[in-house]
Amino acid sequence: MPVSEFDLIRRYFATATPARDDVLLGIGDDCALLAPPPGRVLAVTTDTLVAGRHFLADADPCALGHKSLAVNLSDLAAMGAEPAWVTLALTLPSADTGWLEAFVRGFAALAGAQGVQLVGGDTTRGPLSITIQVHGFVAPQAALRRGGARAGDRLFVSGSVGGAALALRLMQRRQAVPDALRQRLNRPQPRVALGRLLAGRASAAIDVSDGLVADLRHVCEASGLGAHIELARLPLLPEVAAVAAAGDWSAPLAGGDDYELLFTLAPQRAAELVAACADAGEPIQEIGYMADEPGVRLIYPDGRISEDVPDGFDHFKS
Ligand code: ADP
Ligand code: MG
Repeated sequence: MPVSEFDLIRRYFATATPARDDVLLGIGDDCALLAPPPGRVLAVTTDTLVAGRHFLADADPCALGHKSLAVNLSDLAAMGAEPAWVTLALTLPSADTGWLEAFVRGFAALAGAQGVQLVGGDTTRGPLSITIQVHGFVAPQAALRRGGARAGDRLFVSGSVGGAALALRLMQRRQAVPDALRQRLNRPQPRVALGRLLAGRASAAIDVSDGLVADLRHVCEASGLGAHIELARLPLLPEVAAVAAAGDWSAPLAGGDDYELLFTLAPQRAAELVAACADAGEPIQEIGYMADEPGVRLIYPDGRISEDVPDGFDHFKS
């Protein structure tokens, strides 16, 4: 990219996020120099969002700046890590200042709220694509892995599920999207504080990006277990609950993009953690339990038990 365009981007990015003491050298040199705290390990994750695949090409750039960082922070949350640093690789069709300013606004607002500093990146010309890597800290023994669940552990989810998927479905059908649902799709809030609260306490955790059942299967496989979900206990926004009450459970069970935490608690620890979450104002809901028998069983409100997961969802997925 010509120098003028690059300088422009650098101007937007260099001071947009908080300056942290553990960043010895940030944007501007060949590498950033970063000082992780003693006693904790780095948790590192990256995600790419591609126009037309993960978002519509004409998506609101401010929401996109938020969401592209949020989906990465959600992975740190699911590990129980404290976010610290982020890099941003941007591929842009053109140096559109209006678009960039809005993108940075969304990105920087979330980075600021989470105390995360942008420490480097790359900028190239091409079809619109956003790759972000985030780095966080966690005590090695406290990291929330997928494989630690035991049979009899209680299964919980934060916030609510299915809202983002229902919003996407309504948008694709060109129907009106209630604001609460649109926010679920465009402005997911990574559960960073909850993840840190669960670190060292939950037996397993994952963030719900691909769909509740699909992500639960990852926990089941990693832990060598199965699980039961009681559908009547699922936390649903009213619009999602209405569709489910009409018999269509595909949004909460198979819809992606919720970025909630799905986690398991040993029965003897559950009461203490439920109380700690209530004190911290973190909304969580028990939705089932882990079992020896492999597979995910869905217990419908009428008592019917099924292993078939309703699908029929076009979500933005790779
Ligand atoms: P190099 O050729 O050494 O990779 P660049 O010209 O790509 O250097 O980048 C110069 C500096 O600007 C580096 O510190 C890099 O991390 C930073 N940078 C480039 N693009 C971005 C971006 N999109 N976001 C944040 N920092 C960026
Ligand atoms: Mg470069």
